[in-house]
Amino acid sequence: MPLPSALNLLELSFKDLEVLLVEQGLRPAHAKPLFQAMHHRASANLKGDEGGNFPAPLQRWLEANLGGRLRHDVLMPRQGQVSGDALAQKHLLALEDGQEIETVLMTYAQRHTVCVSTQVGCAMGCVFCATGQMGFVRHLRAGEILAQVHLARRLLATQGQRLRNVVFMGMGEPLHNYDEVIKALHLLLETRGANLGAEHISISTVGVVPGILRLARERQPCNLAVSLHGSSEEERAKLIPVNQRWPLSELMAACRQYQQLTGKRIFFAWTLIEGINDHPEQAQRLIALLRGIDAHVNLIPLNETAGYQGRESAEDSCSRFHRLIQQAGIACTIRQRRGIDVAAGCGQLKAQRRPRQRAEPQQGEEPIAG
Ligand code: SF4
Repeated sequence: MPLPSALNLLELSFKDLEVLLVEQGLRPAHAKPLFQAMHHRASANLKGDEGGNFPAPLQRWLEANLGGRLRHDVLMPRQGQVSGDALAQKHLLALEDGQEIETVLMTYAQRHTVCVSTQVGCAMGCVFCATGQMGFVRHLRAGEILAQVHLARRLLATQGQRLRNVVFMGMGEPLHNYDEVIKALHLLLETRGANLGAEHISISTVGVVPGILRLARERQPCNLAVSLHGSSEEERAKLIPVNQRWPLSELMAACRQYQQLTGKRIFFAWTLIEGINDHPEQAQRLIALLRGIDAHVNLIPLNETAGYQGRESAEDSCSRFHRLIQQAGIACTIRQRRGIDVAAGCGQLKAQRRPRQRAEPQQGEEPIAG
């Protein structure tokens, strides 16, 4: 039976894959070797998957259909850079429609983490962020998100290493693309596939309140990271325009509700910008905001971008801020940055190639920022 429309095999659940194969005149049992090839072995080439050992009818069907309406790996590596210390690799990847995204693979204490993009560009417009400076182009599909993880797994496998963590923290606001992100999350958790533990997957948001509440209601199995960067409405709105839509007060109420419903610790990110948000008084206000929340604060010195004047905080300002948060009994780390020399901050590599490209939202797409 001909395929009804273009289909990316990578984004089908195990059950949907079984249904598709049966519709195509194959046996449901063929789903297991195919699913394992895609999600367990992260195979890049299903037609020639060495470990696949596919049944002959499945092999014939793949050969007849892959590359036509049937898709699998939709990423084309355009540019890769490895940092001088070899602890960060940044990959610029082209999608089928020619759009580009970035994926960063980082190593901390011999543990490998991939930071994946969830959108081309971003509608949130955070002033210090290279992706925010580009504007929003489109959402990624779950298959395009997963393909980034599988690329990282293949790269690590060539070094005899395994991927430990996935963070949805690259280009784009994950909760603005909720359904595709959650679909990708569940495929990563599949025990017949990548089988990553929920404790190793984090979804980051700049404060999309309805998305946080939905994660909580649905008890989605992942960690939540919330970017704050400002401890008063006014200061935060200057850095994150979306604060005008979902003010800090609403965001903190949503975080409390999330914690009540899920019982999970929340990770809060704070980009330290010299003279903007690294003052002791701002640390004290942050402490007050977090009172009663089981929180871990990650302090991240700014990754400087050409489109923003701010500078990273000096080392002693970072240490002072860090000390104050810790003294208040709140877990806090200064995040070691990875890959400064490969422009590893979100959107920086793409911005270097196409400086200040600003795209309009697609038809029907509501710009959130500003
Ligand atoms: S920091 Fe994240 S949410 Fe803000 S503009 Fe950049 S990609 Fe979007």
